[in-house]
Amino acid sequence: MLDYLFIGAHPDDESSVVGMMLKAKNEGKKTGVVILTKGEAGGFATKNTRVEELKKAAEMMDLDVCINLDFPDAGVEFNMTTVDAIIKVLVEHKPKVVLTLHSEDYHPDHRAVSQSVDRAVFVAGLKKHMGNETWHPQQVLYVSLDQRTNPHRPDLIIDITEVYSLKEKVVSSYESQGILPFVEKHASYYGGLGGFKYGEGLYIKQPLRISTVSSLLNKSKIGR
Ligand SMILES: [Zn+2]
Repeated sequence: MLDYLFIGAHPDDESSVVGMMLKAKNEGKKTGVVILTKGEAGGFATKNTRVEELKKAAEMMDLDVCINLDFPDAGVEFNMTTVDAIIKVLVEHKPKVVLTLHSEDYHPDHRAVSQSVDRAVFVAGLKKHMGNETWHPQQVLYVSLDQRTNPHRPDLIIDITEVYSLKEKVVSSYESQGILPFVEKHASYYGGLGGFKYGEGLYIKQPLRISTVSSLLNKSKIGR
């Protein structure tokens, strides 16, 4: 059983939640990443290179689960084949919190993954469809990797300042993609929104559900 599972389209999409995943591990939680494609359509890197980069990053993040589903890059579709593959992962690994891509991201694969995860989360909880093997995560949260098409501000900012230098090292694993400057820009932007040096931003569709009022107490110091 996983506490946090990120479901993305391409190896390096999980860069958006590396800080959160590192913090979760520090708190003794179980984390996982599922990537639908091997990223062969982007840049000049081969499938093998991108898979190796993902593997390296996964080791540095100490992930409990890292799965690649090998769907075609730039060809992920919102259909029942994609949905069923995600349902299988949900039922097997039973994540309490699912993190995935924002439905208004620029890349069509991101949008297809977002829609497929929403559908999979819904169907995986249906007894009539699933029999005894249902699973319904407590929460689904979204990340935006591209602000070009998503004008919304995040609903939640996580302070990742304490793990940011390690996040930089993890992100450096994706050597073929050269995303470090982009990641730093995002971390500063989201951090700034929350009053932290570095942050990660999350979006919600359903109301956040908490069982203890103390969950609202922010232990981070706000203000620069
Ligand atoms: Zn991507």
